[in-house]
Amino acid sequence: SLSIGIVGLPNVGKSTLFNALTKNDALAANYPFATIEPNVGVVGVPDTRLDTLAGIFGSAKIIPATVTFVDIAGIVRGASEGEGLGNKFLANIRETDAICQVIREFEDPDVTHVDGEIDASRDIETINTELILADLQTLEKALPRLSKEARTNAKDKERKQVLEAAEAASQVLNEGKPLSSGGPAAGIELAHLRELNLLTVKPFIYVFNLDTDELADEALRAKLSELVAPAEAIFLDAKIEAELAELDDDEAAELLESLGQTESGLAQLARVGFATLGLQTYLTAGPKEARAWTIDKGATAPEAAGVIHTDFQRGFIKAETVSFDDLVGAGSMQAAKAAGKVRMEGKEYVMNDGDVVEFRFNV
Ligand code: GDP
Repeated sequence: SLSIGIVGLPNVGKSTLFNALTKNDALAANYPFATIEPNVGVVGVPDTRLDTLAGIFGSAKIIPATVTFVDIAGIVRGASEGEGLGNKFLANIRETDAICQVIREFEDPDVTHVDGEIDASRDIETINTELILADLQTLEKALPRLSKEARTNAKDKERKQVLEAAEAASQVLNEGKPLSSGGPAAGIELAHLRELNLLTVKPFIYVFNLDTDELADEALRAKLSELVAPAEAIFLDAKIEAELAELDDDEAAELLESLGQTESGLAQLARVGFATLGLQTYLTAGPKEARAWTIDKGATAPEAAGVIHTDFQRGFIKAETVSFDDLVGAGSMQAAKAAGKVRMEGKEYVMNDGDVVEFRFNV
């Protein structure tokens, strides 16, 4: 499942946001979540398609796709040098798929800003610098080992590639650039760096924590979007997110609408996270459960089956497939079949988001 690490300076609203995302009372009834550790929360992604499917199939349970959020203590300037303390915090997000930076835009005289006044551009720079320094530290530690491995396994082409990628990565980082931007540009094969769990290889998503009355300020949003482009920007008010988490679906929709918003922070983060990482969901449904499964865009039917169980992939025969819209249009699986909307897809079939699937397989 998609995992997102939350970073940012202290007092920008990270904990407020994390708590809102992971302690959602309204969702809890239908969407299970679990707090694995105090700073790790698994959250069901709101998906109205599942409610519709559960209605059509009489499903007893809904199991949504999930996003795992990992919160770390605030990063301050110099965190990467701080006797390994900063780096220990950063270790919590080494395994995540993407890094979400929370940036403070809200003004509040009662909440001090660690660097004085509000300045998104400076704060982003501070955080990026610490992430870059942390990666440089990791590389400094790893390089002697990597070059020894490359030397002693001279025939092992892969060890040589890892070493070369690590050396190239050091250069990019030394120029003050994160690897996600500078890496591909500098011709580094990022896949070779995977074993090092570097932070700036991961895509960044920027969350701006705004004052409530700034939420609908298009000019401000455009300015901040531009600041982080081509990365994605999300705009929310962490305090509103905390309120949304206490409301039921209808009340939450009403509150959002009154603020000129259409999506909660969780929905935005899930949508942007899935898009940034090239993920999509397909659906299965029956009397037991209606369920969303996370797969890569471009995944084939057997690969999609493998997410349910490796046996499904190995013994894959066919995927009985109908698009969500066609199924809903027909009203039932039987009607969709009668209308010729249900296809038998084979091994080469490339999945679409919202495919409703039943796999046929040999065990
Ligand atoms: P963290 O240090 O980044 O985890 O920040 P916290 O979530 O603990 O928030 C720090 C303080 O800012 C708390 O008093 C929050 O209530 C407050 N705060 C968080 N988000 C907002 C916001 O959107 N608007 C305002 N006015 N205050 C906020």
